[in-house]
Amino acid sequence: MPTKNTIKLKFESSRNLSPAPESLSAVKIKERYELFINGKFEEPHSKKYFDTINPANEKKLSLIAEADNTDVSKAVSAARNCYEKTWKKMPGKERGKYIYRIARMIQERAREFAVIETLDGGKPIRESRDFDVPAAANHFFYYAGWADKLQYAFPNRQPLPLGVAGQIIPWNFPLLMAAWKIAPALATGNTVVLKPAETTSLTALKLAEIIREADLPPGVVNIITGAGETGAALVNHPDINKIAFTGSTHVGKIIQKAIAGTSKKATLELGGKAANIIFEDAALDQAVEGIINGIYFNQGHVCCAGSRLFVQESVYKTVLQKLKDRMETLIVGDPMDKNTDIGAINSKEQLQVIHKYIKIGQQDGAEIYQPAGILPKKGFYCMPTLFTKVAQSNRLAQEEIFGPVLTIQTFRTDDEVIEKANNTPFGLSAGVWTDKGSKIFNLTRKLRAGVVWANTYNKFDPSSPFGGYKESGYGREGGLQGLEGYVGF
Ligand code: ADP
Repeated sequence: MPTKNTIKLKFESSRNLSPAPESLSAVKIKERYELFINGKFEEPHSKKYFDTINPANEKKLSLIAEADNTDVSKAVSAARNCYEKTWKKMPGKERGKYIYRIARMIQERAREFAVIETLDGGKPIRESRDFDVPAAANHFFYYAGWADKLQYAFPNRQPLPLGVAGQIIPWNFPLLMAAWKIAPALATGNTVVLKPAETTSLTALKLAEIIREADLPPGVVNIITGAGETGAALVNHPDINKIAFTGSTHVGKIIQKAIAGTSKKATLELGGKAANIIFEDAALDQAVEGIINGIYFNQGHVCCAGSRLFVQESVYKTVLQKLKDRMETLIVGDPMDKNTDIGAINSKEQLQVIHKYIKIGQQDGAEIYQPAGILPKKGFYCMPTLFTKVAQSNRLAQEEIFGPVLTIQTFRTDDEVIEKANNTPFGLSAGVWTDKGSKIFNLTRKLRAGVVWANTYNKFDPSSPFGGYKESGYGREGGLQGLEGYVGF
C-alpha cells in the first residue's frame, strides 16, 4: 500500500509531466454555424448569432445561429412533413440502416468529435475520447438494432411512433445526450427537432453534418441552436408530440407546467444529489478511486455525480486521508492535455455557481479542503474541493452544485445511512461500496434512486436504462425502457 510519502512523490512527478496536448490537426471549426432544418444548413430568421467560446482559455471558437419562433416552426413542420410522408411509413429495417450508418460515421470521425467536444465544453480530452464519443456511437448501434425488432420489445402489442419529438439537452455530455435522444426516437419511427445547450452546440452541429452525409431523408433530424427562449418555443409549439428534456430541475418544472393539459408526452431527466456510501468492509482504495471518479473527473458536471459521500464511522479517518492524498495527485488544467484529470468548468456562470456554494458551505460552518496548486489564469477552473463537518441540513448537502465539490458525512448503521441518503428532493443515482452482497441487495432495494452502482460508479451502457425518482424526473433513457418514451399503442 503506498504511504503518504510515496503518494506525495507521485504527485510531484505527475505535476512535472511534460505537456501532452492532443493535436488540433484533425479538426476544422467553421467561423459560423447555421441551423440544420429539412436536411439543409440555413441562416436563422432572426439573423442573430451568438459566440461559442472555449472555456479553457475564453477564446471565441465560432458563431452559432439563434433560432427564433419562426425557425422553430420551420423545423417542426419539416419534421412533421417527413414523419407523415416518409419516416413513419419506412420499414424498421430501413430505418435501422440509417441509424447504423450514423453510428459508423461517428466512429470514423471519433477524433474530430472528441477534440471539438473538449474545445467547446472544457472536459478533458481523455474523457471525450474514451467515454463520450464511443458511448454516443454505441448508443446509435444499440438502437439501430431495435428498429426492426420492436414487436419483440413490446410482445403482443402494436407500438406506434408518437410523431415529432422536441428534444432539449444540456452542456455536460453534448454529443452523448444528442445520441441518447435521437437514436431511440428514430428507431421507433419518430422525427426530431433537437436543441443543444447554448454553450456546447458544436458537436450537435457536427452530427448534423454526418446526418446530411448519411443521406437521411430531409427533416428526420433537425438541429436548431439557441438558448432558453428557443427551448421554450420548441416546448410550446403545438405540433410537438413529445418532449425529451435533460437539464436542471428548475427548467424541468417550467416544462412540466408548460405541457400540462396538452397531449404532449414527456421524459424529464433532471438534477441529482447522489449518495456514495462506503462501508467499513469495502475495498477502501478501490472505493476512494470510485469516489474520485464519481465527483471530480468531468469537473462534477454530471447529474449523477456522487456529490455526497457517506463513510462508516470506523473507517472515516482512513478514507478521509486516502481521499486527500489522491486529490493531491489530480491534475487540473488544460483539457486538451492527455494528462489532465479535471478540465475547465463549462462557463463563467457555472463557475460562479460553484464558488457561491463553496462560500455558502464555509458560512454554514463546514470545513473546506482543497489540494495545493495553482489554477491557470485564463479560463474557468475550480480546484477539487472536499467539505467535512457537513450537517444534513446544510445547503451543500441538499442542493445540486454541478461542480467538483464533495461533502463527506459519517454513519453507523445501514438504516441510518439509508435515511440520510434518501433525505434529498432528488433520486437519480447512488453508489454502494461493500464486500457483502447482502448489504448491496438491502441498500439497492431501499435507496430511492434510479441507478445504484455497487463497487463501481458512473458506469454506462446503452442497454441499461437511466433516469430518476422524485425531483430527478421521470421516464427512462437507454435500454429497452428507453424505447417506451417514444411509442404509443
Ligand atoms: P443546466 O443548468 O444544465 O444548464 P438548464 O436546464 O438551464 O440546465 O439547460 C438545459 C437545456 O434547457 C439547455 O439546452 C437550455 O438552453 C434549455 N432551456 C433553458 N431554459 C429553458 C426553458 N425555459 N424551456 C426550454 N428549454 C430551456
